[in-house]
Amino acid sequence: IRLAETDPLTGLLNRRAFFARAQAAADKVGPHGRMSAILADIDHFKRINDTHGHDVGDTVLQAAAKILGSEGIVGRLGGEEFAIVLPHKSLEEGEAHARRLRVLAADLRVRAARAPVRMTCSFGVSEWSEGDTIEGLLKRADIALYEAKTTGRNRVVSAASDLVLARARENRSQLVVTRARGREVIFWQSPRTMSLARASPRRVLLIPTVTYPPSAPAASAMSI
Ligand code: GH3
Ligand code: MG
Ligand code: MG
Repeated sequence: IRLAETDPLTGLLNRRAFFARAQAAADKVGPHGRMSAILADIDHFKRINDTHGHDVGDTVLQAAAKILGSEGIVGRLGGEEFAIVLPHKSLEEGEAHARRLRVLAADLRVRAARAPVRMTCSFGVSEWSEGDTIEGLLKRADIALYEAKTTGRNRVVSAASDLVLARARENRSQLVVTRARGREVIFWQSPRTMSLARASPRRVLLIPTVTYPPSAPAASAMSI
């Protein structure tokens, strides 16, 4: 990894390099190939900074990055948010990986002046599907991550879970629910998935456009 591609604090790929590598991986696996993605966000990280100071916060970020960076294409998207793309891994394999990471993060103790600092992380997992884009893949992981946050944190939520699918419907969000590999998946309406939706109207249920999540600022956490 070249210096221009790394995040200086954690040594992981920076945002731009992560997206470039993820795109290259997507090109390689192709539209019918397997690939999954994980978004991870440290829970209540602001509290860690407030309680122990920014330097300890930085050490926690480095420790988290060490755990999260063990496999796949891994980037720090910003702040305390990380993304992982796992080429050739199914949704189930992505979920299993996220569950392992969740436990490793929760078990970690970072040394600090007063007492060891603990952290937990929340995870959203999604799977590459036909007609997909990297932005769509990560947007779905982001929606799942949002559900993990709002349902208690320190959790792994899959974008194919009933919870996320139901939430996508009830929130009338910018999402398309469709079927792939025998199960329902949601698509975020990027221009490409919109045209996919029009091309096969019977396979696709279109949901009216509102920003997801409804309470969040329009730009959303990820701005992808
Ligand atoms: P949630 O569980 O909902 O994710 O809450 P949170 O507190 O983790 O999330 P929030 O987005 O409110 O706060 C993130 C904090 O991360 C705010 C910011 O000051 C801190 N932060 C961002 N980048 C860095 C960094 O490089 N080092 C340190 N120490 N803190 C950072
Ligand atoms: Mg956080
Ligand atoms: Mg965050």
